[in-house]
Formats: sequence, structure tokens, C-alpha cells
Amino acid sequence: MDLVELAPDVYACLQEDRGLGYSNSGLVARGGGLVVDTFWDLPHTRELIETYGRVWREPARRVVNTHSNGDHCWGNQLFPEAEIIGHRLCVARFGVENPQMMQALRGAASSSNPVAARLAAQLADWDFSGIELRPPTTLVDDRLELDLDGVAVHLVWVGPAHTAGDLLVHLPRERIVFTGDILFRLCTPIGWEGTHAQWVRALDAIEALDPAVVVPGHGPLCGVEGPREMKAYLEYVHREASRGFAEGLTALDAAKRIDPGPYARWTEPERMLSSVERAYRELRGDPWDAPIDVAGLFAGMYALRQSWEQRRSA
Ligand SMILES: [Zn+2]
Repeated sequence: MDLVELAPDVYACLQEDRGLGYSNSGLVARGGGLVVDTFWDLPHTRELIETYGRVWREPARRVVNTHSNGDHCWGNQLFPEAEIIGHRLCVARFGVENPQMMQALRGAASSSNPVAARLAAQLADWDFSGIELRPPTTLVDDRLELDLDGVAVHLVWVGPAHTAGDLLVHLPRERIVFTGDILFRLCTPIGWEGTHAQWVRALDAIEALDPAVVVPGHGPLCGVEGPREMKAYLEYVHREASRGFAEGLTALDAAKRIDPGPYARWTEPERMLSSVERAYRELRGDPWDAPIDVAGLFAGMYALRQSWEQRRSA
């Protein structure tokens, strides 16, 4: 974990992106302390707290969850005194994923099912035991503005984009935005409930804030080139998916036909299927929060990856 000072009393804690769950966090070390996102399990969140302890000794008084995915909030219980803040729709989705299920998936390393075995290998660094879900109790609607001893912190709702309750955390004077999973940087986005158009608008909203530093939910720090490049990616995949849909292809067959081009260098490029599936959901006229078949999605991503490997070795 890397601790980076972004401005006086403002820090990011970055985890190198090695696949599923390696998210980033932020700290405003003022006004009692505010932490932006906890980590996916208790050991990683303990390490996060130790890392912040190098610059901020007290327990933080506030935690903001940018959204409801476990890799941004399953460490909340290690801030027992803190006020937990999140969007109303983040709270509504909070129990959809659960730690016991993830722990079971992680234990399937010797499964004869190759999809399950690969997923278990991807989860090997994580330990979901002991996690108690602790959802936000201070709810945000459109926005919430905090003043931490002179540092303004604006929480801005931009969902439903990557999830329903997506919040940006904006420090206007310092020109810093913590994006949560609106932005994946140099790693392939995977989205849940939300629309393509709103995700693009959310990326535009980051750029419109004119930030000097953008802290993505996953991947390294960047400037506005980060949201610009991801918008180009989402638009490219959406366009290609729409063509596949019009031709009557399955989402997986449409994804197999899309040339990942420069995006093949992003981590886990097979997550492209997630964007194709979301495009199909909209093109079918399904609601933006229609449940995603997660097991089917991971099986499809596995198949997409296999098809690329076969093409490469052919
Ligand atoms: Zn995430």
C-alpha cells in the first residue's frame, strides 16, 4: 500500500491493481479525520489504518463510502466510532453481496470447474472472515457539503452509473476528486446497476470539476486524461455492442468480435463483457437495476479470455 500526500492534510492510500478488489482510499486529516472508502477485508483495512496512522493518530470521525461494492466498504466495522456516510441507494444495495458467499467462492481453488478455480485464485489474497456489514447511517441524496476545519469536502451523487449510489468526493480548493468506481484507471471497468449514458455523464462531471489530481477507485493517480480515456472506452464498447445486438448475436459472441485494441493492456480486459451485457440490458429495454447474473458473467468472462488466448496461439 502506498501513502501519497496530495495536498496539505490530504492523502491517498493506493493498492497496486492486481485484479479483483485492489481499490484505493483517501484521508482528509482535518476536522476529526475523514476516510474515503475502506477495503475489501479486515486484514487489508487494518493495514490501511496503520498506513494512515503514520500521518493521523486518532481514529477517523467520518467514513464516506463511495458506493456499495464490498471492496469499498467491508472494512467499515474497524471504524466503530465513526459516522458512516453514503448515498441512500448505496444503503439500499448494501446486503446484495455478502462476505460468507465470497469466502465460499475463495475456498473453491481445487474445484474441477475451471471458472470457479480461476475465481478462487483471484480471491486468494483476501480473507472475508469476520466481516460484519456496517452500512452508512448518514444518508446523502443529491449532495452533502462538509467543512473539515477549513477543508471543504463535497459529496456529489452521480449515479446510477457504475452502481446506483455512486458518489464523487470533491475537494474544490485542493482540486482533488476521489471518484470511487466511476473511474477505473488502466484497468477494465466492471459495472452493476446503472446506465451507459449516466456513466458517461459522471465521467464528464469529473472533468467539469477541473481537478488537478484524480484518485480512481482502482489503478494509479491521474489527471483528466483518466476520465477521458475511460469515456472513450465505454463509448467504443457500447457502439460495438449495439452492432452485435442489432445483428442478433449473444452478448458473449458480440464481445468476442470486439477488438480490444489498446485496451488489451488494461488489467482484466475480459471484463469488457460486463459493458456489453449492460448495453444489452438497455437495448432489450430492461430496467437499469435488473439483476445481473453474476455467475453467468464470470463464466462468460472466462470464455472470452479463452477465446483471445486461442486466437493468439492460432
Ligand atoms: Zn471497486
